[in-house]
Amino acid sequence: MLLPLMEEFYTIQGEGFHKGTAAYFIRIGGCDVGCHWCDVKESWSAEMHPPTETSKIVENAVKYSKTVVVTGGEPLTWDMTELTTQLKAKKLQVHIETSGAYELTGIWDWICLSPKKLKLPKEEIYQKADELKMIIYNNDDFRFAEEQAEKVRKDCLLYLQPEWSRREKMIPKIVDYVMANPKWRVSLQTHKYLNIP
Ligand code: SF4
Repeated sequence: MLLPLMEEFYTIQGEGFHKGTAAYFIRIGGCDVGCHWCDVKESWSAEMHPPTETSKIVENAVKYSKTVVVTGGEPLTWDMTELTTQLKAKKLQVHIETSGAYELTGIWDWICLSPKKLKLPKEEIYQKADELKMIIYNNDDFRFAEEQAEKVRKDCLLYLQPEWSRREKMIPKIVDYVMANPKWRVSLQTHKYLNIP
């Protein structure tokens, strides 16, 4: 099976629960959610990225890490069954970063759900998410975060993460919010502070 592979790289997971741990990232092209603040707009058009055999992607991943993070773009634009079955056959831990806007396919050890207002997650993914990562761009995003947190499992970890270009303005608000509502945790894009991909 072919997937539009935008890039793949071994780095440190910067965000959420697995922050600080090494992982091999597979970035799949294609996303039509259209977040105006998206920091990977180059990923949107799948045609820009070479159709790549899943076996080749897996072959590269096993050389680097026991943990693979599949991201995008929106990886669930595509059927993830083949890729994740092959990764699991190699005994890798397989994580996904998704907006949840499309049907959940694939076998995942960890699902990071990051809902977007423009295209809400499919209902089925809420109960499967291991972490909920809400991007805070403006004040209304706190309301949206609470609304989305109502839908996930009780043991799903809850993160508020400032959108990068708004971090100076939003970090103090997130800090106050988490202290007042301690079910939430702060997530930062630490890879950007570390100057790594
Ligand atoms: S869902 Fe993710 S990749 Fe798609 S536009 Fe939004 S931030 Fe960008």
